[in-house]
Amino acid sequence: MTDEFTTDIYYDDDADVSTLDDETVAVLGYGSQGHAHALNLHESGIDVVVGLREDSSSRSAAEADGLTVTTPADAVKQASYVSVLVPDTVQADVYENAIEPNLESGQTLQFAHGLNIHYNQIQPPEGVDVTMVAPKSPGHLVRRNYENDEGTPGLLAVYQDETGEADERALAYAKAIGCTRAGVIETTFREEVESDLFGEQAVLCGGVTSLVKHGYETLVDAGYSPEIAYFECLNELKLIVDLMYEGGHSEMWDSVSDTAEYGGLSRGDRIVDENVRENMEETLEEIQNGDFTREWIVENQAGRPSYTQLRQAEKDHEIEEVGERLRDLFAWADEGTETDDEDESVRVQADD
Ligand code: NAD
Ligand code: MG
Repeated sequence: MTDEFTTDIYYDDDADVSTLDDETVAVLGYGSQGHAHALNLHESGIDVVVGLREDSSSRSAAEADGLTVTTPADAVKQASYVSVLVPDTVQADVYENAIEPNLESGQTLQFAHGLNIHYNQIQPPEGVDVTMVAPKSPGHLVRRNYENDEGTPGLLAVYQDETGEADERALAYAKAIGCTRAGVIETTFREEVESDLFGEQAVLCGGVTSLVKHGYETLVDAGYSPEIAYFECLNELKLIVDLMYEGGHSEMWDSVSDTAEYGGLSRGDRIVDENVRENMEETLEEIQNGDFTREWIVENQAGRPSYTQLRQAEKDHEIEEVGERLRDLFAWADEGTETDDEDESVRVQADD
C-alpha cells in the first residue's frame, strides 16, 4: 500500500445532507444507478432534476416516480451538482454535447465510477469539483436498502477540489443516497477504477466463469454426466461463496468435510497456480497502462464486433443449456433469487 491508497471510513455522523440544501442535483441517466440515486436524493429532501434525452424510454419511468425530467443539457444548466449516471461508454459523448457547454465554475461533476476521468476520456475544466461516490452494489439494492432504512457501502474519491468543499459535498451526497449508513471508504479515482476492472476481469466475472467452464469441461470430457458436472462446478459454487461471504475462508473450511478441506487445501494451488498469477499480473498491467481501456473504446467505435462474438460463444456453451434445463426441473431455483432482479433488468434494458 502506498500513501495514495488510504482507508478512511465515513459514517452518517461524518456527513451533513444540509450541505446540499439550496442546491439542485442533476442526475443524468435513469438506469440502474440513476433511478436509485435520484429517488434516494429526492426522499432525503434534496432538489433533484433528471436529465434524459427527449426520446429516452426512461422518461416515463422517472416522471411516474414523481421526478422532474428535462434534457441533460438543461439539467446541467439548472443544477450546481451534476451526477453522471449514463453508461460509461456514452459518458464522453454526453459530456461533450450536454455537460461541457453548460458547465460553470463552482459546479460539481460527480461520478459513480471513475473510468472516463481516470483514462482522460473526460477532461473537466479548472474551477469545477470532480468527485466520485460509488455504491458497491447494483442500483436496485441501493434503492431497496434505502427504503428499508439500511445502507449500501460505497467508495468516495475527490479528483479535483476547486471549491475547497468537494469532500464535504460528496459526503453529503453519499449520505443522501444511504451510503454513509453502511460506511464509505475514501479512495482515489485511480484505485477505484483499476481495482474494479481487475476484480471483474480476473476474479469475479471473468475468472470465476472460466474456472467453472474448465471444471465442467474436465468432468464431461472424462465421461461424467453434464448434469452432475453442472451441480458440482456451478450450482454448489453459491453455497461455498455464501459461507466465504459470511465468515471468510475459515467459515467455509470449517463447514465442509475434512476430506473436502484436505483435498481443497492440498490441490487448490495446483489448479490456480503461478501461471494464473502471472496472467493476473499481465491483466493488471494492461489495465494500468491503459491498453484495456483503449481496446474497449475502439471496440465500441467499431460496433462491438468481438464483444458480440464473445457474448454469443458464452451463451452457446453447453453448461448454459444444461443449467437452464436443470433449473427448470428443480424447485430450489426460485428460492433465494429475489424477484426485484426483475425490475433491475427492465431498467437496465430500458434504453438498449
Ligand atoms: P444503466 O445502463 O443502467 O443506465 C443508463 C441510463 O442512461 C439509462 O437510463 C438511459 O436512460 C441513459 N442513457 C443511455 N444513453 C444515454 C445517452 N446517450 N444520453 C443520455 N442518457 C443516456 O447504467 P448504470 O449501470 O446505472 O451505470 C451508470 C454509472 O454507474 C456508470 O458509471 C457505472 O459504471 C456506474 N456503476 C454502476 C453499477 C451497477 O451495478 N450498475 C454499480 C456501481 C457503479
Ligand atoms: Mg465493479
